[in-house]
Amino acid sequence: MEYPNVVQDRDEKFLTKAIEEAYKGVECGHGRPFGAVIVCNDEVVVSCHNMVSIYKDPTAHAETTAIREACNKLDRIELSDCEMYASCEPCSMCFGAIELSRIKRLMYGAKAEAAIAMGYKAAISDALRGTGVNQTTEIEIKQADGNLAIVAEQACNKLNRTELSDCNMYASCEPCSMCFSAIQISGIKRVMYGAKADTARAMGYRSPISDALRGTGVYQTAADLEIKQANHNLVIIAEEIFEKFPKSSA
Ligand SMILES: [Zn+2]
Repeated sequence: MEYPNVVQDRDEKFLTKAIEEAYKGVECGHGRPFGAVIVCNDEVVVSCHNMVSIYKDPTAHAETTAIREACNKLDRIELSDCEMYASCEPCSMCFGAIELSRIKRLMYGAKAEAAIAMGYKAAISDALRGTGVNQTTEIEIKQADGNLAIVAEQACNKLNRTELSDCNMYASCEPCSMCFSAIQISGIKRVMYGAKADTARAMGYRSPISDALRGTGVYQTAADLEIKQANHNLVIIAEEIFEKFPKSSA
């Protein structure tokens, strides 16, 4: 039977392209060595790399950049007919973004540990393994075979930083897990929020899944981050937003 080989060849082709992007991103000074390719019907929609330095945006990872560009190009906000090939296992922010985009299949090269070993603190998806957060999705997640994984790991070798460590964030609602990870990645030290994620969810917003992370230790690994809910009156005002704009009307 030929089919599995065909699948493997196309997987290899697209993942190799993502790895090439990782090198390209560093070579042109755009950011860190990570690449991501989005494919639809066997065609490359976008091929992107980390843009953190050039955009001055700590959340401009290869995966989030690819999702933004693909949605723009396809002129829609869901990518359920698309696959992503990432040079490295996505961090929890990017994983959250992949989930929100409804991408159906993800193949990655290097394990997050390989990036962590080289000093990349953003690669914390490991913290999510076994917590059920990865497993609650319908995404098929696969690591590449041995050789391509090694080639991908070799890309994790350069560091630079963009930080907001002297900043506070005030959010109308408790951040979703993607945003929570983005906050961690940005280095922000203090977050104050109004409405609880549960209130948003009760009004039909599926993205506020930060609840799934409570008690898993993921929040607690953000040792330097102070997270506080606002006082009672402000919470009520913030929660009224969802009553005014339930998901069906937004
Ligand atoms: Zn990421």
